[in-house]
Amino acid sequence: MKRIILGILGLIVVIGIYLGIQYQRSWDYKAVGVPVLNYHRIDTGIRHSLVVPPEEFKKQMQYLHDEGYHTITMDELYDYMTKGTELPDKPVLITFDDGYIDNYKYAFPILKEYNMKATLFMITSAFGESRFVNVEQLKEMQANGIDIQSHTVNHKDLRSMSLDQARDELIGSKAVLEDRMKHPVRYIAYPGGFSNKDIDRIAEESGYRMAFTVQAGNVEPGQNLFNLPRQAVFFNDTPFQNFWVRLHYPWENAFMWRIHDKLLEWNLKGLADLEPLF
Ligand SMILES: [Zn+2]
Repeated sequence: MKRIILGILGLIVVIGIYLGIQYQRSWDYKAVGVPVLNYHRIDTGIRHSLVVPPEEFKKQMQYLHDEGYHTITMDELYDYMTKGTELPDKPVLITFDDGYIDNYKYAFPILKEYNMKATLFMITSAFGESRFVNVEQLKEMQANGIDIQSHTVNHKDLRSMSLDQARDELIGSKAVLEDRMKHPVRYIAYPGGFSNKDIDRIAEESGYRMAFTVQAGNVEPGQNLFNLPRQAVFFNDTPFQNFWVRLHYPWENAFMWRIHDKLLEWNLKGLADLEPLF
């Protein structure tokens, strides 16, 4: 009995030391990669995992600001990935998918307040819909450090259509955005994060430089530029912990989610539910 207790205590100490070391490493992008955070909606009064309330979003941006993080652009990340160009200390790339109007209404003023840069992946067929940002709003955002990039034309799973249709989605959205924003569009977030080898290849052929999924993890040199991971920030019962864990334990978080998905795949939901996830 005594040996079991000692064994458990020993294990707790080892895990504690490991977590301490990983926390220290997480401040060094050359050791753990660059976090690319992914948000969708920032709005009030909607309880959904993809809708972060503005006050919570502000808390997270405040944390990045206070801890000395530097928000970087897609071009900076690309130069780091392809040429090894140095990034500022504690880099983080903030992205928004879809282009909901609340990004302009709530997220943009907070980003401006902290002088932060971000990238918005816009669905171009959403232009003209009142739930989404319009070109004037996007122009104002672009003039204030928000890079407008592509999230395809129709936001459909690119694997579910012919390769020619997928190509139209990729080329069409790039052309519309470049025409309206007068700014090069070289980066894309796949709808739902879904792609395959053919889609990755077509994205490259269509003139993109990097493409993003929603697989958890940080971005590091050597990864496939057309299948880069992002850290999706969810709203749940512990939203700040959710954000904090992704920032400081990117690898462990991705690993835990992979185990979770595997357990579900093997119909072991009971076991999957036992796993502590953030
Ligand atoms: Zn989307």
